[in-house]
Amino acid sequence: MERLVILGGGESGVGTAILGKEKGYEVFLSDKGRIKDKYRDVLTKLEIDWEDEKHSEEKILNANVVMKSPGIPETAALVVKLRKNDIPVISEIEFASWFSETPVIGITGSNGKTTVTNLIQHLLKNGEVNSGMGGNIGNSYAKMVAENKHNWFVLELSSFQLDGIEDFKPHIAILTNITPDHLDRYDYKFENYIESKFRITKNQTAEDYFIYDADDPVITEWLEKNPVKAQKLPFSMEKKLEKGAYLEDTNIVIKINNTEFTMSTSDISLQGKHNTKNAMAAATVSQLLRIRKQTIRESMANFQGVEHRLEKVLKINNVMYINDSKATNVNATYYALESMESETIWILGGVDKGNVYDDLLPLVNEKVKAIICLGVDNEKIKRAFGNIVENLVETGSMDEAVKMAYRLADKGDNVLLSPACASFDLFENYEDRGRQFKNAVRNL
Ligand code: ADP
Repeated sequence: MERLVILGGGESGVGTAILGKEKGYEVFLSDKGRIKDKYRDVLTKLEIDWEDEKHSEEKILNANVVMKSPGIPETAALVVKLRKNDIPVISEIEFASWFSETPVIGITGSNGKTTVTNLIQHLLKNGEVNSGMGGNIGNSYAKMVAENKHNWFVLELSSFQLDGIEDFKPHIAILTNITPDHLDRYDYKFENYIESKFRITKNQTAEDYFIYDADDPVITEWLEKNPVKAQKLPFSMEKKLEKGAYLEDTNIVIKINNTEFTMSTSDISLQGKHNTKNAMAAATVSQLLRIRKQTIRESMANFQGVEHRLEKVLKINNVMYINDSKATNVNATYYALESMESETIWILGGVDKGNVYDDLLPLVNEKVKAIICLGVDNEKIKRAFGNIVENLVETGSMDEAVKMAYRLADKGDNVLLSPACASFDLFENYEDRGRQFKNAVRNL
């Protein structure tokens, strides 16, 4: 019997254990931290051998194949040892793909993955396509493969998940954009992170599709130097294209082979230029799957958006409070500020990730009337914006920040939480930060 060892007892690890067991592997799952109760229960019920708060090396090094959770870096001592012993170490995505013929729509990029993934799932559901959504969000891909009840999979894929693939390929791949992120896991080399993102298309063939942002210079430069076998379907807000999606006045036009689809950008429920791009990517997929044009238009109009991404919370005294807690990097915040249509009180800060704020200066100059710092790393923020925004205050809790915003706001303004930083100083994660914001707003 082949021995499958799984490192990490989260959603992807437990999903792999379920699939591995079903496919006849002898499974052992090991987690250095404590496994959540809901996952312990699943493992115990399925009689899968597992341990937590330790790694029993002799049992692990006895594996034929190891699946490592995407949170564990290549440099972890145990992974180094496994590699030295020539034991294959793969990701859940690779493992699950060995047992599935179901076509995959795979979405990666530095920003916009979750939005595009949810939007595609919404379009497919309305188009009566039986698809399962998961990967880096929600359900594990491996678990869905074990369940075997879908005709398509819509998978959000992080660069860490792509690092662990060998033969996996999506039938339709989407690359939303590439800006520096997670460089601590890539030897602080942007090139390495770029390569990781492009792994999404490396196993694709001429029958597959590769959808990407043709306005992103990092993407287009890479494509100039490297061949891609899949059929390329770019999208652009800046130029007319012969194939793919582009803007004509206020309409999105999508041309694929002999088909053409148009819809007005005013039919898109989500705001901001970045969301027009996200809609272009999702509409291209829908067009490939031949979803009815009217269904595509209606679905774009009634999509509710995803929590913590430019989420409108409440209007109080004619001031709109917007939760963009998921903006954990400068690029995401750039698009948030760009989409603000009135004067903005901007709450930002947290743990600095090597942020460079230069790109934001014109937008801040134009739209931001007050800055409220919330987090440990305020010095850089003060240096970047202190000269152009008169009202810059520091606060120590979400409650305080929101109350301060309330005091500073006039009728017609926006209050935007778009931190451009990680949340681990004051909050458990970005969801916790977003929820605390919403609670504080509702308590005003
Ligand atoms: P990801 O899953 O890649 O982190 P999300 O959809 O969760 O992406 O969005 C993360 C942040 O990036 C949010 O603040 C959102 O408003 C912003 N965002 C969404 N789409 C884009 C895009 N295409 N380009 C830049 N920023 C985006």
